[in-house]
Amino acid sequence: MKIGILGCAGRMGRALLAEVDGSSRALLSGGTVRPGASPLVHTADGRSFADSIDEDAAALFARSDVLIDFTSPKASLDHLALACSHEKPLVLGTTGFTADQQADIDDAARTIPILQAANFSLGISLLSSLVRQAARALGPEFDAEILEMHHRHKVDAPSGTALALGRAVAMGRGVDLDEMSEKLRDGQIGPRVPGRIGFATLRGGDVVGEHQVIFAGMGERLVLSHLASDRQIFARGAVHAALWLATRWQEDQTPGLFDMADVLGL
Ligand code: NAD
Repeated sequence: MKIGILGCAGRMGRALLAEVDGSSRALLSGGTVRPGASPLVHTADGRSFADSIDEDAAALFARSDVLIDFTSPKASLDHLALACSHEKPLVLGTTGFTADQQADIDDAARTIPILQAANFSLGISLLSSLVRQAARALGPEFDAEILEMHHRHKVDAPSGTALALGRAVAMGRGVDLDEMSEKLRDGQIGPRVPGRIGFATLRGGDVVGEHQVIFAGMGERLVLSHLASDRQIFARGAVHAALWLATRWQEDQTPGLFDMADVLGL
């Protein structure tokens, strides 16, 4: 299976290059870099990649069976249009889409298969399902708060994973996250509004990704957490997902929007 990496010079892009290069089930069809950027990319383990790396995303789509995108919302939307015109499956790891951009992704999934996940780790997929169960069992009497910490370069907040965990709480309670979420607290905010799902964001250093979901009741507190210490886990999950998506597309040509729960059969 030929896998192309969109945005292969980024933190995740480099981890993906290393992962695909080391996989016995995948072939690297190349990668793209931002216009004007150097096509020579070095991975954390000291390997260098330059072959088939350039700015030409259309050419990469043409020679790949499946594409993986960890770039920025704007670049991902351009890649989405190319995926539709080339009828190629797309794995989307980028986070921070607006509601309108997400609607474009949902639309495109009527034409091509898209696997979108805010987090490709096995642990977070499992955590989401545990959070849903806990929210259902505990109900809104237990205040739900989601805390996340990421490295100093991360540009969107709360993280896509924190929002996905918030959706898991909302789903467990049978409510809409957009109506119940509380993302900003500053000054005289008054007592906590019952049923709200709170978010808190920390940024600093080189933290790969840490998430806690806290259910705070009277006299007891349940804390579910996940700590990622190596971004290679996301790359491994994304390559696994790409192979799953491309195989599925080759077998039955059915479009759709999938997530890691589909890949893992959770
Ligand atoms: P990064 O800034 O290190 O990398 C992004 C790369 O995309 C940069 O090299 C940039 O030059 C490149 N890029 C931008 N526009 C491009 C274009 N048009 N063509 C080619 N390349 C282009 O960021 P990162 O830490 O690698 O994260 C990227 C995205 O992935 C973010 O949205 C982040 O939140 C998300 N992320 C998701 C997961 C997950 O498991 N789903 C894990 C980590 C990060």
